[in-house]
Amino acid sequence: MPLPFQLNPVLERLPVYQPGRPIEEVARELNLPAADIIKLASNENPLGPSPKALAAMRKTLSSLNLYPDGNAFYLKQKLATKLGITPGAIILGNGSNEIIELLGHALLTPESEVVVSQYCFAVYPIVTALFGAKLVTVPAKNYGHDLDAMLAAITPKTRLVFVANPNNPTGTVVSPDELRSFVNAVPPHVVVALDKAYVEFIELPADLSHEVSTGLRPNVILMRTFSKIYGLAGLRIGYGIAAPEFITALEKIRQPFNINALAQAAALAALDDDKHVENTRRTNKRGMKLYTKAFKELSLEFIPSAANFILVRVGDGTRVFAEMQKLGVIVRPMAGYGLGEWIRISIGTPKENHRCIEVLKTCVSDLQSRNIDG
Ligand SMILES: *Cc1c(COP(=O)(O)O)cnc(C)c1O
Repeated sequence: MPLPFQLNPVLERLPVYQPGRPIEEVARELNLPAADIIKLASNENPLGPSPKALAAMRKTLSSLNLYPDGNAFYLKQKLATKLGITPGAIILGNGSNEIIELLGHALLTPESEVVVSQYCFAVYPIVTALFGAKLVTVPAKNYGHDLDAMLAAITPKTRLVFVANPNNPTGTVVSPDELRSFVNAVPPHVVVALDKAYVEFIELPADLSHEVSTGLRPNVILMRTFSKIYGLAGLRIGYGIAAPEFITALEKIRQPFNINALAQAAALAALDDDKHVENTRRTNKRGMKLYTKAFKELSLEFIPSAANFILVRVGDGTRVFAEMQKLGVIVRPMAGYGLGEWIRISIGTPKENHRCIEVLKTCVSDLQSRNIDG
């Protein structure tokens, strides 16, 4: 039935985000118990939420009749102390995805251009299209960001450039020096959004938070999240760091209670959970070794990753994804990113990783023999 009213015309061509498939959905479809299925599709923390965060949430349950602190005073204070910056340079988001959308509201009109890299995070093109702006996609270099080419793509109409470091879905990184020279070279009329969702997985990240928060770099915003290293993806909480004047503008746009009370309590506690963070890093490092070793043995091309997931070239990615799913392992097909021969695997627990590798072996060799048979 056609709707009797007019929708915003941008909706006609708006790409739809394709999330990793939830375990319960696949369980219903395959008629399998959910416990038999593993999901390595959304770069979630395989160790679960921070235990300290869980305890803090339990304590908060009985006061859920009250609205949360709309300004998240304690969480901002704690983040500020931890990062050595002023709380006024922080905005919290319902996931860092909300920060990306706030940037759209604050900066983009149909006249604007947004510069991204080929193989960028899918949310950047969606937000760009939502505000009717023009997406300028710069070809990747070795699957990673070609920062020089991105710089060259900036025009007087450019309002925003997104750089995820490490990048999702490729896991590629640029060095702190390269990142700094890029940020230095971007003209001041362009906002650089540095997405640091996986920064905790790299050894020596560039730290721009001090210069950004003191207003020395008014056109840079750093985005971070509790979804990955802290294992709180289901709670939806992330944050942005920028010059206080920029933060004030973004604060006007957000919903008054965008961060719920459980998320505030959990994030506050998670920031003290160094043990969980360390375990997560260690588990990830070991898992990454296991996968790269297995891919070499299977002669499968992969892209060395600095994050908690890895891209591997399997031939027909959509088919391998479907075959693996039948065997209870959910990974991420990459055709939507223009990487149809690849799948992305999130690093899991040792047990999950072993199972995933076994299932991958089966599916890849099945497909190879079937193709040889014609
Ligand atoms: C996972 C991810 C995020 C985090 O999103 P949240 O909304 O905080 O869960 C942000 N950027 C990239 C590139 C990601 O892969």
